[in-house]
Amino acid sequence: MTIAYIYKWVHLPTSKWYIGVRTKNGCHPDDGYVCSSKIVKPLIESSPTEWQREILYTGTPDEMLKLESCILTNLDAKNNLNSYNLQNGDGNFTTTGITMPEAWVEKIRKGNSGKIRSEQARENYRRANQKKAQDLDYLKKLRKPKLDDHKSKISASLKGVNKTDEHKRAMSAAKKGKKTGPCSDARREAIKKALKGKHTLPVVTCPHCGFNGRSNMKRWHFDNCKERKK
Ligand SMILES: [Zn+2]
Repeated sequence: MTIAYIYKWVHLPTSKWYIGVRTKNGCHPDDGYVCSSKIVKPLIESSPTEWQREILYTGTPDEMLKLESCILTNLDAKNNLNSYNLQNGDGNFTTTGITMPEAWVEKIRKGNSGKIRSEQARENYRRANQKKAQDLDYLKKLRKPKLDDHKSKISASLKGVNKTDEHKRAMSAAKKGKKTGPCSDARREAIKKALKGKHTLPVVTCPHCGFNGRSNMKRWHFDNCKERKK
């Protein structure tokens, strides 16, 4: 017997939530299913104690799909910063109320890889990645320091390898017209602005030419001033 259900996962430390629906043939609230979100599922699995599941509703698959879509739309889940949902519906649910079999959905999903995404879709991915970036366990995995052995292997494999002319041209084209150095123009401006009026060196005046300055004054003025009478 199939008991479709709508579930809610809450990340206890942040109160962020994910709402999903389960409609597969033979499913029921205790079927051990975790979550349909590829983002949320690994988060739950890596720190299960931080997550709490709640069954919101049970019913027929059709009812649950419609209800889920209705709940997510009401909460505007895809734009709600407290939600992990990236859309206001499961994606299995079409506006006409027809449910696609999971095999079709999987097929479409596969067919979509490599597709050029809309700005909205890309924004959704960005949001998803931002959410991922708040997950410490995920970051730990991502920023695992390399072992010395690994580092030296990378270094050795790159040593003496010349870049192709094409590669060099591309690098040159990418750098053309850009200032070199660690700071972007915007960053440079920001630093300038932040430091304005916060100089640590006093203004000094050269007794020979009357020039005012803060740094490097003794290099060109005072005893080295060209106005200095010898
Ligand atoms: Zn001077």
